[in-house]
Amino acid sequence: MQRDEPAAGSLYLVGTPIGHMGDLSPRASHLLATVDAIACEDTRHSGQLLSNLQARGRKFSFHQHNIRTRLPQLLELLEEGQSLAVISDAGLPGISDPGEELANAARRAGHPVLCIPGPCAATTALVSSGLPSGRFCFEGFLPTKGKERRQRLEQISSEQRTTVLYEAPHRLLTLLDELWNHCGPDRPIQVARELTKRHEEQVGATVQEALTHFQQTRPQGEFTLVLGGAPPIAQPTLNDVELTEQLQQLINQGVSSSDAARQLAATTGLSRRRLYTLLHHDASD
Ligand code: SAM
Repeated sequence: MQRDEPAAGSLYLVGTPIGHMGDLSPRASHLLATVDAIACEDTRHSGQLLSNLQARGRKFSFHQHNIRTRLPQLLELLEEGQSLAVISDAGLPGISDPGEELANAARRAGHPVLCIPGPCAATTALVSSGLPSGRFCFEGFLPTKGKERRQRLEQISSEQRTTVLYEAPHRLLTLLDELWNHCGPDRPIQVARELTKRHEEQVGATVQEALTHFQQTRPQGEFTLVLGGAPPIAQPTLNDVELTEQLQQLINQGVSSSDAARQLAATTGLSRRRLYTLLHHDASD
């Protein structure tokens, strides 16, 4: 815990639990208890948490419907030198939750913006899915309908990185059905339900299996979907004669034999040495 926290005129984006109250960090507890003002997505929802912490700061509601009117007021507090925390109903503010605009405005106005990290459904689901997490993308909630949604689903279907999505329980079956149509029944998926809570579970391992499960068991609770990436586009496999022809074409264009082997290796994924040998064999035959 930093001794000088909360600092005057600073904005803190504070992560709060997504289910398990034990996940609130000591640093987050200290900050929320002592900060001058707290912008909450829903003051009633966060009331219990803040009262348990005996948070003394002034509470402000801050949600997607009052961002425009509330922002100048919150910036003014920072301008006056007050410390300000922002929290959402659960998880990390700014991730499919209010926080992004405030962080942006505070930063532009020259105020320090710090994050007190905490749970986030997206990363919690990702790392527990067992799907590749080295490279991934976050889509949050898809547009609810129409062309925009279809376009997004098309992009997701050819995305080679793991994709993380949020969805409301009453729309889960529709989304799984759409993923079935766009990505096919065998695409790997883990549907994380009620993360960090008593009835936490993962449903997979393919889109077909998840769809069948939730057709039989009504989706209840909160869901984060982790979809495996599309397989890399298969390169047509060329035989040695075809490879030699391609090398020869490059050489005829004035490329040296070693560069021709290098260029073809880059486009086919074959080893340069193998392609180079092919050329020399061809010459000596
Ligand atoms: N800012 C939050 C975060 O950092 O996780 C996300 C807020 S977004 C409005 C809420 C969505 O997150 C839910 O509809 C659900 O898709 C996902 N979510 C939140 N808590 C979850 C949980 N315990 N288990 C699974 N998904 C959860």
